[in-house]
Amino acid sequence: MPDTRKVMLIGCGMVGMSYAYALLNQNIVDELVLVDVNKEKAEGEAMDLNHGLAFASSSMKIYAGDYKDAKDADIVVIAAGVNQQPGESRIDLLGRNTAVFKSIIEPVIDSGFNGIFLIATNPVDVMSQITLKLSGFSPDHVIGSGTTLDSARLRYLVGEKLGVDPRNVHAYVIGEHGESEFVPWSQAHVSTVSLDEMKAKYPERKDDFDMTEIEDEVRNSAQKIIKAKRATYYGIGMALVRITKAIFSDEHSILTISSLVDGEYGIKGAYLGLPCIVGREGRIKLIELDLNDEEHKKLERSASIIKEAFSSVNF
Ligand code: NAD
Repeated sequence: MPDTRKVMLIGCGMVGMSYAYALLNQNIVDELVLVDVNKEKAEGEAMDLNHGLAFASSSMKIYAGDYKDAKDADIVVIAAGVNQQPGESRIDLLGRNTAVFKSIIEPVIDSGFNGIFLIATNPVDVMSQITLKLSGFSPDHVIGSGTTLDSARLRYLVGEKLGVDPRNVHAYVIGEHGESEFVPWSQAHVSTVSLDEMKAKYPERKDDFDMTEIEDEVRNSAQKIIKAKRATYYGIGMALVRITKAIFSDEHSILTISSLVDGEYGIKGAYLGLPCIVGREGRIKLIELDLNDEEHKKLERSASIIKEAFSSVNF
């Protein structure tokens, strides 16, 4: 019998369903189980997606299920959780989402699930680290969306500014998926030429290579979208599909997922968005970039923010 590519999606809100809808439009999974604390919503979403199957390019089994269905799933994607309310601190949000995750991880593990956790719920680095702790899984099998979307936004904007296809822009946003994220510009290349080399070669085009505004735009784009339409979901849905595809196709693609840093960059015990090789076994390898001193300090700052937030959680 052919191996069925099975995903359980937990959390059928805007992010979860954007992911599910994008999956339906790309031939990536064979079976999709929807789970939500609001069972009726999961059932309605399954019906709605199923009605689109006749127009889809692939066949898929889609249904609302429960945690027992995770038993033979390859990937459990979590997009469940509460959003920050006015006046609420980040720690309050963390506490509430930890409670949500406790109600999720335990029954998933009890089902016999032995695949890969892919986390989208914010703050994504801390929630991924909480999943690692609650599941007891290998760190390679617990990953978060990290800064994959931020890196895609960056490559698009740099490509636009320089008039180059974003696929030929090799640059990353790394660190916390949040305020302290940053671009290690010393590592940014167009084709095989670094931006630093270009600056030195074409001093008259100095302004073209000034990327300060682009970095700010990437960092603030989520806030801008939230202000305009209350939430962001299509981009993250596509980013989650991209990671899912890299796993099922054992692509060994390099994506800035969030994963456990355990000694690399001189940092230990924090989930951070960094370039990693992603394949059938989840995170295959975390890549160490040759950061300069300033960039290294920025990464350490991100790590201390994540560590502090993680240590504030009551398990
Ligand atoms: P939403 O409110 O639309 O959906 C959340 C869903 O989770 C709801 O359907 C709710 O019923 C469900 N839920 C709540 N508690 C649950 C539980 N205990 N078990 C199962 N399901 C439960 O929110 P959204 O806009 O879809 O956002 C979801 C999360 O994704 C948020 O934490 C948000 O901040 C995050 N997010 C992450 C990124 C990223 O880049 N990683 C981008 C955008 C949003």
